[in-house]
Amino acid sequence: MSWTDRQRAMLAEMGMPLWFVSRPASLKAEQVVVLAPTLAPPEFAARPEPVPPRAGSPQSSALGSPPQGVATMDWPALRGAVASCTACGLCNSRTQPVFGVGHPRAHWMVVGEAPGEQEDREGEPFVGKSGQLLDNMLRAIGLSRGPGVGGPRSDGQGADDPARQVFIANTLKCRPPGNRNPGPQELAQCEPFLVRQIELVQPKIILAMGRFAVQSLLRTSEPIGKLRGRVHQFQGVPLIVTYHPAYLLRNLEEKAKAWDDLCLARITREGV
Ligand code: URA
Repeated sequence: MSWTDRQRAMLAEMGMPLWFVSRPASLKAEQVVVLAPTLAPPEFAARPEPVPPRAGSPQSSALGSPPQGVATMDWPALRGAVASCTACGLCNSRTQPVFGVGHPRAHWMVVGEAPGEQEDREGEPFVGKSGQLLDNMLRAIGLSRGPGVGGPRSDGQGADDPARQVFIANTLKCRPPGNRNPGPQELAQCEPFLVRQIELVQPKIILAMGRFAVQSLLRTSEPIGKLRGRVHQFQGVPLIVTYHPAYLLRNLEEKAKAWDDLCLARITREGV
């Protein structure tokens, strides 16, 4: 693939000079691998409904019922269920839940971790510094967060073309206070929402960014460094593992690997 001026500019913005980008001309045989069965997620139907945390556990404060019936919800019902969810203590400290944004049938889906302070205020995922980097990364491969389900930051590019659109969602819909890591119970309670979002979008490829997205979707505790560079599957959808943009902002030298991951995703999806 030859780079357009726009893509060159995007790469520069991502901090990646072109000479640094080692891009495979095509998928190598060892990359076209579905992960070993031990890492494949169980079928959605086999995932148990979440159970409330034990009384007295740190996440048990102010718990309502775990979300029920999510597996059959349409978009409005799902959005409503997220908005009114009190299944974990995060509902006490959030300003608002952050549902997700993008074309409802986008071909690409990005899964991040959890809203930060700015996302909690604005109600849209990835609007802070890591969001800027994410948008630049997506633009570099001709994609953008779509306006379909709303979002002030959509640039409207290719708005009616789901092949160029991304739906962005997080493993947690509510911000953990102080930007602490998501807790296991919080992840479990929130997971049905993400799984239903994936079912409704029916993406053709998923980009899982960061430890929590990867570990939730692939049901593995393997580190990202060991999972990158291969094509995994989530319910039959190819899934590419990559670093979280916030991590990339702290570890600039890893950006080239993230770029390789994007290229792998693009080759997997589009063959180019
Ligand atoms: N980091 C994430 O993983 N998601 C957001 O929405 C913002 C920052």
